[in-house]
Amino acid sequence: MESAIYIVATPIGNLSDITLRALDILASVDVIAAEDTRHTRKLLDHHGISTQMASLHEHNESERAASMLKKVQEGGSLALVSDAGTPLISDPGHVLVSLANELGVRVVPIPGPSAVTSALSVCGVPCGRFIFEGFLPAKRKAKTDVLLTYEKEKKAVIFYESPHRILDTLELMNEVFGDRVIALARELTKRFETVRRDRLPVILEWVRADLNQQKGEFVLVLHGAESVELSVSDEEKKRLLKRLLVELPPKKASAVVADFLGGGKKEIYNLALELKN
Ligand code: SAM
Repeated sequence: MESAIYIVATPIGNLSDITLRALDILASVDVIAAEDTRHTRKLLDHHGISTQMASLHEHNESERAASMLKKVQEGGSLALVSDAGTPLISDPGHVLVSLANELGVRVVPIPGPSAVTSALSVCGVPCGRFIFEGFLPAKRKAKTDVLLTYEKEKKAVIFYESPHRILDTLELMNEVFGDRVIALARELTKRFETVRRDRLPVILEWVRADLNQQKGEFVLVLHGAESVELSVSDEEKKRLLKRLLVELPPKKASAVVADFLGGGKKEIYNLALELKN
């Protein structure tokens, strides 16, 4: 066994979703650093592995990383696993890996499952290019601010979500992105695996109406914004704005024009104020 730390991907539900190489590494290293040793014990027992474990999670990582690496520098081997999927993807491990890099300790990836790639592979949303946002902030204002940064994003955006926040997040997304397509991937590789792609208002109503759809683990894949850049002259923009101002206050009229024809919101709003006067 080569002296190194091995970053080992483990299943996101189905215990058989683990590579032959991952099993081999887990059985051969000196120690497995696990986010939750009781959780990982089930996986090891399932595969008949009895390697010694040590706990390494977000609250003790800074304190333990150095001593774990010291053993590797002395010729030992260490595998890092998290509770599910690929370590460091919305999971602990960054402190350990970054320190290992600084110290020149070899870090070896043992690739395998991750909820993000699993969801992307089945969700049916164009995802040749995507942005991984992971978990949104818990507070509504901070969450809204993050969502607003993706209002015009053309790439698919991936979010992780937990059962007690899924409804709130879908409600906010519905406010920010309106009729946009979204895919919801729930409990992937598990008994109640569900993948559904539809317009946001439809997904929201479906989840709201069915408590079962609020249970488990979620990945949300938001469709990128469609390009609405039309070649409309400033004169035509002005004409539309003038017409809308007959029916709507300047703020709403300029928002509609900016939404449909593109252009700076503030600039169009100022023009609306000018025209109104
Ligand atoms: N490291 C993991 C990975 O590679 O995907 C992610 C760990 S993060 C703490 C846990 C989150 O991942 C869950 O809240 C959920 O958003 C997502 N997730 C994990 N397993 C999932 C599954 N089986 N189905 C859907 N989402 C899952």
